[in-house]
Amino acid sequence: MNTLTPVALSDGLIVETVWYPYGTLCISSQAGCRIGCPFCASGRKGLARNLTCDEMISQAATAEAKRITISGIGEPLDNFNAVKEFIEKTELPAAVTTTACSSLIKDLMSLNHNGVMISVHAGTEPAHKKLIPNTRPLKEIYDDIAQVWENMSVRSRKKLGFNYLLVEGVNDSYDEIDAHIANMGRFPQASTHLLILNHVDRSPYVSPPREKYDGIYEYMRSKGLNVRRANQWRRKDLGGCGTLWLKSLEEKR
Ligand code: SF4
Repeated sequence: MNTLTPVALSDGLIVETVWYPYGTLCISSQAGCRIGCPFCASGRKGLARNLTCDEMISQAATAEAKRITISGIGEPLDNFNAVKEFIEKTELPAAVTTTACSSLIKDLMSLNHNGVMISVHAGTEPAHKKLIPNTRPLKEIYDDIAQVWENMSVRSRKKLGFNYLLVEGVNDSYDEIDAHIANMGRFPQASTHLLILNHVDRSPYVSPPREKYDGIYEYMRSKGLNVRRANQWRRKDLGGCGTLWLKSLEEKR
């Protein structure tokens, strides 16, 4: 399936869902996003509004979905009450991807979720700030997570992951990778998901060549990191996060 699908809201705004392999449906939590990651189309026009829990449920109302990931348009912590309500109401296992932009990350980690993925995309603060401009510094994020981590079971710890989206010339140096590996020393059972960037229109940011991606993956493994290859499927035209959302806004003008 692997399809990016527009979803029209009652006020005419458009968000996106994406099918991933094996019945995972990715849904959006906001229309637009204030975080403004420069490689992503979702935040290019800022935030329009939060989605309600019912609007999230209607995106997920399909018989084929076996599990949900709230990883589409939006920062779930900025719409925490609706996201929490969704996780509590849905009968499907639900995972969340966040930049951990507020201390609500601690509340999120305590919910009955199917995984929390924290997008860091860097080992050092300058690269982190460049790629995720409107979130908190890495130190604050890791200190918050560490507070919850202490009291988590091994099973729960394995449900925590960190996203590292490789961007050529920004976070793909071995110094940057070494800094990420050092950060992960605090969370030994957590995984790192090494992501390929699906280029969005008019963005200067691209993924490094495949050989470099493979080299970094092998390097992380050799250093003992629990690293996984991720999002290999989302590499096609109009496949980047927020591309349909941005296109719908530009067509309205
Ligand atoms: S990557 Fe996520 S947090 Fe960043 S702008 Fe896009 S939707 Fe927002």
